[in-house]
Amino acid sequence: TETGDPADAPSMLTLDGVTKRYGPETAVDGIDLTVRDGELLTLLGPSGCGKTTTLRMIAGLAMPTSGQVRVDGEAVAADGDGVPPEQRDVGMVFQEFALFPHLTVAENVGFGLDDWDADERERRVADLLDLVGLSEFADRSPENLSGGQRQRVALARSLAPEPEVLLLDEPFANLDIRLRERMREEVRRIIKETNVTAVSVTHDQEEALSISDRVAVMNDGQIEQVGRPESVFEHPKSRFVADFLGQASFLTGRLAENHIDTGLGTLSADLLQGLSSEYDGARIDVLVRPDDLRATPCDGDRRTGNGTLVGRQYTGPSFVYAVELDTGDVVHCEHNHSTDHELGERVTVDLVADHTLAWYPAE
Ligand code: ATP
Repeated sequence: TETGDPADAPSMLTLDGVTKRYGPETAVDGIDLTVRDGELLTLLGPSGCGKTTTLRMIAGLAMPTSGQVRVDGEAVAADGDGVPPEQRDVGMVFQEFALFPHLTVAENVGFGLDDWDADERERRVADLLDLVGLSEFADRSPENLSGGQRQRVALARSLAPEPEVLLLDEPFANLDIRLRERMREEVRRIIKETNVTAVSVTHDQEEALSISDRVAVMNDGQIEQVGRPESVFEHPKSRFVADFLGQASFLTGRLAENHIDTGLGTLSADLLQGLSSEYDGARIDVLVRPDDLRATPCDGDRRTGNGTLVGRQYTGPSFVYAVELDTGDVVHCEHNHSTDHELGERVTVDLVADHTLAWYPAE
């Protein structure tokens, strides 16, 4: 069960101006980040943005070129020097799980507990196998387990030595899609029950949004935005974040007094987030998500919102249509599967959003 709000907890992990260079290349570029005690934070970003390098610097598998990493107030890396991984209170779950095939499940889980008293070790292993629901598999070889079970063994092994911070590197990448969704819930439950502070890495926005207390969106070695999943999804600070978190279309227009003229007609400025008068007259792009829009057969009497269907994707529960508005903007609309439009059909698009919209000054 989840108690308390991690947002109010003291910080457990802090990165201060952390930079990693490989020769001329900057993999991580001056990151500042605070993760609170008991919080699950996900680094989300495209391939090559520096997520794994950041995780490796927290683990001690890579040293920052400059900047500082602190765990529970103690500097574990500062300006090119640092404490080796085994002396940090940090556990890591690797993408490929890295279990020892010649040890049983219980021996794998107890692997990091060499210096524990035998009785305590046995009790700890039993508790963890119970936590991850694998008590009956204690004496098996991990080779005879399913992917999801192996992942739970890897998680139990990393949690066994009671690390302050748990790192997860693309933890679901080696699981098939259906298992992945089940394991997201399961992994979140286990992490929350142990109350460990966790940082995971993924390029899958749905995974990041569904498992995390907060998401840090990375681009090109930097963090573009950190926040709760709902907040980064609904209030993306940049076009990059908007695009990376899900299908994003942009309506172009010019702000005038209290309205903006777009391809969908005149929108009230009240609909736009955080508007101030300094933007009067500015060209802007308004973010619309597929579920903000609805397409209907073309209404010939309407002057705005008309366009041509240029894309049609069936996803099972819904259709996603791409419509090229007569103004030139291309927008995506998501409909439940009972409505059907054909490619090339003339349609009218309406804004049905019941929330304020994010927008950006035009590039
Ligand atoms: P992916 O999702 O593909 O794993 P990532 O976001 O985790 O990507 P990193 O693996 O952190 O990205 O890599 C960031 C950048 O640093 C990349 O351009 C990569 O080529 C470079 N890089 C990472 N490790 C090294 C290394 N050991 N030597 C040289 N360059 C490296």
